[in-house]
Amino acid sequence: MKAKGTLIQEEQKVIEQMIRLYCRQKEGNETLCAQCEALRQYALARLEHCPFGEKKTTCKQCPIHCYRPDMREQMKSVMRYVGPRMLWHHPKAALWHLWREFNVQQKRKNSVD
Ligand code: SF4
Ligand SMILES: [Zn+2]
Repeated sequence: MKAKGTLIQEEQKVIEQMIRLYCRQKEGNETLCAQCEALRQYALARLEHCPFGEKKTTCKQCPIHCYRPDMREQMKSVMRYVGPRMLWHHPKAALWHLWREFNVQQKRKNSVD
């Protein structure tokens, strides 16, 4: 894997935790099922090739959103389920993610004001 900056790596880590939590808790699988594994690989690859690189927003607030529609829907289901549970299972990752979302929103607001 090529060298990446911290932001992309951190996001990859959080996304992976989210997908694993979803597959384990919502779907009741002990190991990642084929569909979640495909989503995991897809999401990590999107991040790897994100055109914004280290200057990216969060994917949720991305103006172009590079996901294929079916993968985007799958990821939405994961986020909906995992969002409220993340704070409990992965507090550090969840707080980091929330902080990123908040920061991007603030930057948007400031650029409009
Ligand atoms: S959705 Fe946007 S921010 Fe996320 S990887 Fe794709 S281009 Fe980058
Ligand atoms: Zn699964």
